[in-house]
Amino acid sequence: MSLADELYRETILDHYHHPRNQGVIADPAVKIEGVNPLCGDEVTLYVLFDDGKISDVKLQAKGCSINMASGSMMTEAVKGQEIGEATEVIDLIKGMLTGKGNDDVELPEELEDLESLKGVKKYPVRIKCALLPWNALLEAIDTVK
Ligand code: ZN
Repeated sequence: MSLADELYRETILDHYHHPRNQGVIADPAVKIEGVNPLCGDEVTLYVLFDDGKISDVKLQAKGCSINMASGSMMTEAVKGQEIGEATEVIDLIKGMLTGKGNDDVELPEELEDLESLKGVKKYPVRIKCALLPWNALLEAIDTVK
């Protein structure tokens, strides 16, 4: 395992063991549920929008380490962001995970934990695990567009 892979693994395990922004937001938050039956991952995402921004986001996630870690990183990355900025981050991550985007994409410093998800591309069955929370966020954003 290369040093980069080792660091990526540590970041994923840190988010898996200490998931950020876990929990529930009471009404009137948008609530989106998602499942990945291939792996048994489940997410329930709560998003509060205010003045064109994601003012709060909470996630209840069950499943594998990749799903849990990706969801935790997602909440950190988009909390407080403008909806347009959050949508750009979603595009970036989806491109990175599916290999359809630019592989050499440089993530801004505040998003560098997300680099650790690059390794997931090597394990095609895990890509859906990593994408699940991001797709839920996209669905949440679509409700306010
Ligand atoms: Zn999974």
